[in-house]
This record gives sequence, structure tokens and C-alpha cells, in this order.
Amino acid sequence: MTPLERALRDRIKAEGPISVEAFMQACNAYYYATRDPIGVEGDFTTAPEISQMFGEMIGAALADAWKRAGAPGDAIYAELGPGRGTLASDAVRVLGAAGFRGEVHFVETSPVLRDAQALTIPGAEWHDLVEDLPDRPLLLVANEFLDALPVRQFVGGVERRIVIAAGGLAFDRDGEIVEDSPDREQATKEIAERLVANGGVAIVVDYGHGRSAPGETLQAMCQHHFVPVLSNAGEQDLTSHVDFEAIGRAATAAGAAVTALLPQGEWLIRLGIEARAQALSRANPERAEDIATALHRLTSTDEMGALFKVMALHSPEWPAPAGFA
Ligand code: SAH
Repeated sequence: MTPLERALRDRIKAEGPISVEAFMQACNAYYYATRDPIGVEGDFTTAPEISQMFGEMIGAALADAWKRAGAPGDAIYAELGPGRGTLASDAVRVLGAAGFRGEVHFVETSPVLRDAQALTIPGAEWHDLVEDLPDRPLLLVANEFLDALPVRQFVGGVERRIVIAAGGLAFDRDGEIVEDSPDREQATKEIAERLVANGGVAIVVDYGHGRSAPGETLQAMCQHHFVPVLSNAGEQDLTSHVDFEAIGRAATAAGAAVTALLPQGEWLIRLGIEARAQALSRANPERAEDIATALHRLTSTDEMGALFKVMALHSPEWPAPAGFA
């Protein structure tokens, strides 16, 4: 039994069954606090770790929006759940080439990943919550951040809970499942309120769907394989698909403008990732095959290109970032 499962069993004995939301919150807090899970050696790989081109395209989109908004000198680069800081370093390099000299602010709770981020971006400042970001125009990015925030599950309108069963932990009920995520909506509301108050844009990338619909999407990954959600509590990555309709609703309610939702591949191609791949290959012929493989993984509909989606939120006074029109 994992250390976290022991703690959760004690909690269930003391308080009664815990919600899926409380379980996911406890598992991910423990999981991210105790390791760097990203990459070949870890449990999953993310787009910025596949190629520098991903962060560069994000940086180019942010730079374009920033310039068209008059290049405000007090704007900051902000990233939620920056992992190893790879996306930030690629995006900020491109922003820097466009004249951006602003501070870098990270919202990150994991001490292990904060250490990794400090090596990549030595001058960054860290915060625990979106609420703690300074009141400045934001060039904000969240890649695979919302999917790690907890979801609730309902069966027939009743919240699904987790109980202690003979062999381990188990769900208290099965049936058609409806998921929602107050935490994701709250984080979106906080971002949107800041965009409205201080200006800026936010680019949100995650796997998910454009319409709210019933269905169970909670999943667990360990060493690049799907594993049962309730086994090895705290030792595997728990995520669920992001309901972008709910995200758009939360942002709109807070007064922010919301772009269309695009497949990641289409958005990256509109931004010119193919030309970037060609330029990189010409400059590094020995890496041409790796660059072509990375381009395929990021854009192809049978890889990350269609499952992953991109949406931008922006201040009504700022333009939408490039690639969404
Ligand atoms: N964006 C990175 C990492 C994605 S993994 C990439 O694309 O590679 C999820 C990230 O979100 C990790 O950095 C994790 O520590 C962070 N995270 C998860 N839950 C969080 C929370 N509640 N508050 C802040 N950061 C969180």
C-alpha cells in the first residue's frame, strides 16, 4: 500500500467516504510534490518537452498580441504549472527577440518542480495561486495545467465517492457519469478577472472537448501507460479531459473575450510551425529527422494534433493572439 493510500484510508475511516474531487486533489498534490514526472524517464511527456518549436510558437503568438496592444512595458510573462520550465524558456526567448523585457511569474505548488524551473529561468518569481499574480498586464500560458486540477463526478445527480473495499479503494456507485470541475472554473475566473482589470492574453492548451457532455474521462498514467485510477494512490498522474465549453463560460461571465477552440495541430500550422521546422532542419541537418518526428507528434491528428486543443482568453481591449481568427 502506498503512503498516500494509508493516509486516505485513515481519512475515510475518520470522515466517511471521500469525493472523487478530494481524492484527485490529494493524489495530485502528493504526486507532484514528490517528483518530476515529465519525460521519457517519468510518467508522461508534454508538448514543450517534445520540441522547442512548441514554446516558440506560443512565444510568437504572445509577442504579436503584446506588440499590437502597444507593447506595454509593465506586462509580465506568467505560466501556470510550468513543469520543467522548458516552455517558458522557449517562449521568453522569442518574446525577448520581439523586445519584451518583462518579469517571469510562475504559479507552481510543487517544490521539486520549482527547483527544476529555477535552473531554467533563474530570475522567475513563484506563487501558489493564480490570485497571487501581480496586478499587471498578463502574457499567460497554461499547458496541461487545468487537466491536473480536480474534477467532481456525479452518477444520477449524486456525487460519486470513494470507499474502502476488500482489495483497496473503490467507487461507491457506477453508472452514467457526469464530470465538472469547480477548481478549473475558479482558476479560469481568476485569470479572466485579471485580464479584464489589467489587460493581457491567456493561451490555454489541454486535451479536452468543446462541448459539455456526459462521460467519464478521469484517467491515470504511470510510465507512459494507462493504469487503474484508484490503484497506487499518489504514485501516478491523474488527469481528466478539460471541458472547454465550461472554461469559455467562466471566462465570458468574468468579462473576458474568448476565442474559438482550435485543434493544437491546426493552430501550430497557422502560426508557421512548418516553416520553423524547415529552418531548424536547414541549420541542423544532423537533427532533421528528429525535427520531422517532433513536428508530426505535435501536429498530426493521430498524435497530439487533434486531441489537444488551444483556446485564448483576452482582455476586451487587447487583440486575440495570432492564429485564432
Ligand atoms: N506545463 C508543463 C507541465 C504540465 S504537468 C508542461 O507542459 O510540461 C502539470 C503542472 O502543473 C506541474 O508543473 C504541476 O506541479 C503543476 N500543478 C498541478 N497542480 C497544481 C496546482 N493546484 N497549483 C499549481 N500548480 C499545479
